[in-house]
Amino acid sequence: MSLDDFDRYPLLFGPSPVHRLDRLTAHLGGAQIWAKREDCNSGLAYGGNKTRKLEYIVPDVLASGADTLVSIGGYQSNHTRQVAAVAAKLGLKARLVQEKWVDWPDAVNDKVGNILLSRIMGADVRLDPAGFDIGIRDSWERALDEVRAAGGTPYGIPAGASEHRLGGLGFANWAREVEEQEAALGVFFDTIVVCTVTGSTHAGMIAGFATQDRPRRVIGIDASATLEKTKTQVERIARHTADLIGLKRDLRADEITVLEGWAGDVYGIPVRSTVDAIRLTGRLEGMIIDPVYEGKSMAGLIDLVRTGDIPAGSTVLYAHLGGQPALNAYSGIF
Ligand code: PLP
Repeated sequence: MSLDDFDRYPLLFGPSPVHRLDRLTAHLGGAQIWAKREDCNSGLAYGGNKTRKLEYIVPDVLASGADTLVSIGGYQSNHTRQVAAVAAKLGLKARLVQEKWVDWPDAVNDKVGNILLSRIMGADVRLDPAGFDIGIRDSWERALDEVRAAGGTPYGIPAGASEHRLGGLGFANWAREVEEQEAALGVFFDTIVVCTVTGSTHAGMIAGFATQDRPRRVIGIDASATLEKTKTQVERIARHTADLIGLKRDLRADEITVLEGWAGDVYGIPVRSTVDAIRLTGRLEGMIIDPVYEGKSMAGLIDLVRTGDIPAGSTVLYAHLGGQPALNAYSGIF
């Protein structure tokens, strides 16, 4: 088996853009920094990393004959917003469980940003008081039952599309896309920096890059603040995805790196380094990142470049996974 044996339903514009971050590079005075932009990868509700994962899940949805996508996330879930967009695009219904993953004081937290967009796209959005957890939830299974009881045919997509057998393939394909873009640009990214929470973005990259000849570091920056759960999930999905795409060896432990230090104590709550990273990236590059995910992975990148952990001779690719709509729910910080 290889990646080409899996059907892919196109949801993206094409390969996502790759470009230099010259002023950030100069400011930090070390490694060369580039970005690959999943935040503008698709015309579907601003796109993002889940849209790329869903390219490999949609063929299974269509084959199943389902009429309703059922998924779950926090109030400000980027994932459920992308599921709502894909449902709209396919002419399906979307039933979304939105849990209170973050105890954030902003009064509009359940009204603006991602959840607003899901409502606009016609999703059946239901709030649930449960807190943050990246695993399979009862509320999601109940939602599947309710769709069935109402005569519908549900298709379940777990949080972040991660605990889905095809969830890692989208970013295995991303790794291949990077290799093609490197050949075209005449550059090699020896280090990749990516935010990780439910795990299949990072895991798919690990599996995809492992099939390539030239080794590189793929550094996951934890934004879950439940490091062990995320690490275990990344490892499991990476090994499973590597099997699916026909990697002929076991992944080594050193290929699975999830770093802590930038998530703060709680998922979804930005800390000082998050806000500093958002401001710095905005002011130097005009590149917008969010307070839940990318602000934390960018804070990690900034520190790793500053300390020389990513050495000055490196060329590093920052995976911008999207997520800006959530900024609206955090306006109080700025
Ligand atoms: N960045 C953004 C903007 C996200 O929406 C997510 C989703 O959880 C992530 C990073 C983390 O990706 P994953 O859940 O695949 O680890």
